[in-house]
Amino acid sequence: MSLGPLLEVEGLAKHYPVRRGLIIPRAVGTVKAVDGVSFSLARGETLALVGESGCGKSTTARLVLRLIEASAGIVRFEGTDISDMSGAPLRKLRRRMQIVFQDPFASLNPRMTVGDILEEPLIVHNIGDAMARRARVNQLLHLVGLAQYHATRYPHEFSGGQRQRIGIARALAVEPSLVVCDEPVSALDVSIQAQVVNLLKDLQVRLGLSYLFIAHDLAVVKHMADRVAVMYLGRIVEIGPKAALFAAPLHPYTRTLLAAIPRPDPHRRVARTIPGGDMPSPMNPPPGCHFNTRCPFATEKCRTDDPSLREFGGGHQAACHYVETLPPYSAAEGVHAQTPAAAKRLALYAERRARVTETAG
Ligand code: ADP
Repeated sequence: MSLGPLLEVEGLAKHYPVRRGLIIPRAVGTVKAVDGVSFSLARGETLALVGESGCGKSTTARLVLRLIEASAGIVRFEGTDISDMSGAPLRKLRRRMQIVFQDPFASLNPRMTVGDILEEPLIVHNIGDAMARRARVNQLLHLVGLAQYHATRYPHEFSGGQRQRIGIARALAVEPSLVVCDEPVSALDVSIQAQVVNLLKDLQVRLGLSYLFIAHDLAVVKHMADRVAVMYLGRIVEIGPKAALFAAPLHPYTRTLLAAIPRPDPHRRVARTIPGGDMPSPMNPPPGCHFNTRCPFATEKCRTDDPSLREFGGGHQAACHYVETLPPYSAAEGVHAQTPAAAKRLALYAERRARVTETAG
């Protein structure tokens, strides 16, 4: 029996009315935080949502988790439409989908011991008696590379990386299948980021998890994702397998994002930034292609006609009128060469994951 995708999202939208006036507030416009987003996530897969701050990544994640209500669209989890789910079924669903937040310090209650923090979701979901819960807490600590004695300590007694391990353990307490990782390493030192990324990858193989991985940093995504969706002003402008997207990006916005990845180059002193000024306000997106105001290849057509996503083979899609005629992408624009060691690690990881998927199927 072949299992369908774990998660399917169709035409998801979240529009916030903008009101002005203290005494009699009146609607003066709409922020289209998410504007017709569609994607799917396979079991055991990692899909990264990337884009600049304010492009709608977190809102998409919160819509998927049903933490906020959508203005339009459908979210299917294991084939069931969860868009209107409420009461006991929604509570049950919450066990299957968890979130790891960006800032572990802000998301962990400073007055609770780590043991209590990890036990709380078990109590909320009525899982096990006191003894079973204590055993589970120990198991979770071990799972994320912490020790049993850490259970009696408070969040402030840990380093940033350790706190994020606690955040991950808390998300895993109720045995979810989907974990939304909302910029889980952005607040950490670069030296610690790799450890947490490796932990997440290891846990994925051991527990068969699917990740919706939100990041603005494409360098992190490169190590973590199977597929990547690039968002701009509330929409997906390019989506595809990671290797294809990094080696041959189709959308000019993806090209600029890739070019902005900092490289360890002693001759390059200037930090790479995204050219073309700031992202326009989602309240007043430019007509036509939303990226036209910053796109080096934009023509008159881009200022009037809104391109939709088109398929270019192997699930690689992009929303640009000129994919076929853009100058060929040069790796020198921004892609790191993959080291043989990284390639070997990735192959090993794919092999282990294939084995896990086989067993699960
Ligand atoms: P990202 O995670 O990519 O940084 P967000 O999803 O947080 O972006 O936000 C997308 C857009 O929606 C931003 O312009 C943000 O200001 C706006 N937005 C988010 N939440 C609200 C809200 N509750 N009310 C009004 N606008 C919001």
